Amino acid sequence: MSVLKFTREQFENFVSAMVKSGQSVMAPQAKNGRFAFGPLQSAADLRLDYDVTILPPKKYVLPQTQTLLEFEVGGAFRSVDSSQPMILLGVHPYDVAAISQMDELFSQDQYDKHYMDRRCKMTIVALDVVTPSENVFASSMGTATVRKGYDLLLTVLKDGSVLAEAATEKGQQLLKLAGSSTPASEADLSARKAIWESNEKNLDKHVLKCKPSYLPKLLDHSYEHAVWEEMARLCYSCGSCNQVCPTCYCFDVQDFVNWDLKTGRRQRCWDGCLLENFATVAGNHNFRKDRAARYRHRLYRKGKYVPGKIGGQIACVGCGRCITACTAKIANPVEVYNRLMEDTELG
Ligand code: SF4
Ligand code: SF4
Repeated sequence: MSVLKFTREQFENFVSAMVKSGQSVMAPQAKNGRFAFGPLQSAADLRLDYDVTILPPKKYVLPQTQTLLEFEVGGAFRSVDSSQPMILLGVHPYDVAAISQMDELFSQDQYDKHYMDRRCKMTIVALDVVTPSENVFASSMGTATVRKGYDLLLTVLKDGSVLAEAATEKGQQLLKLAGSSTPASEADLSARKAIWESNEKNLDKHVLKCKPSYLPKLLDHSYEHAVWEEMARLCYSCGSCNQVCPTCYCFDVQDFVNWDLKTGRRQRCWDGCLLENFATVAGNHNFRKDRAARYRHRLYRKGKYVPGKIGGQIACVGCGRCITACTAKIANPVEVYNRLMEDTELG
């Protein structure tokens, strides 16, 4: 599809048109010295130069808390649909990759209507990274750039102009909101290619010593490694590494009875495998009571279990959020996988 070029002013007009379109626009904005996705009220608040957001945009497809159904105690129930048209604007490639993984997971086996209804009404506008964050390692994970999973792709060129290329019909429709623009020139396309090549190399604050595709095999031989116990000794079981992760999708489901004691709602909310009671079941039996087992499980899930469900894709996209969020400084997947690599090579 053709690539359009917007001057900064033309692009702001395009964003203003999105805001006025009647759809919710969720976009990265400054928040207390960091960045967060939130409802966009004005084009001036949009930060195309953000490094990374505190929470990933997955919160719009899988909200922290979501009512699934409402019920009468001992009687009828009705499914609750909280989906609405939404433009998710300015999503970095690694977060696009994470949402694509969740799309596969939530549509295979048990089709998750609550997730998919939200996802189907969403238009994803991807944005090539302008400012690398302090812990990003998307270059190692092959997620520094993306070619699918979005509707429109934006690239900010060095002079501040913005290139936009639609990848789907939804993306084409969104471009109809844009006022004036010009077709991108050969020089513009070369400049975009140079940005892609640079990001594929330079989003590398940590470097994985093997190809991501090797991780399932590496983990086949690492279940009893000492690293799990060593790292877990420092772990607070706070679950922050799970909560900030764009590929963690575990949730808990609970019923709440209203004050009238006649009606209630069923909700799901984010859960995390590092939390002590994550694997507790009826009868108060905890299948993963041991901290080291929980610590190991997270890294196995990213590097082996989830890839086994989605054609080998590694469930870590290298956003680096867990590294920043962990007060004990032990959540870095690269550090652990590299340690396993070294010991495997030495062994
Ligand atoms: S494991 Fe860490 S670096 Fe990997 S996707 Fe999750 S939060 Fe990002
Ligand atoms: S953020 Fe760090 S301390 Fe908290 S559960 Fe994760 S690994 Fe443990």
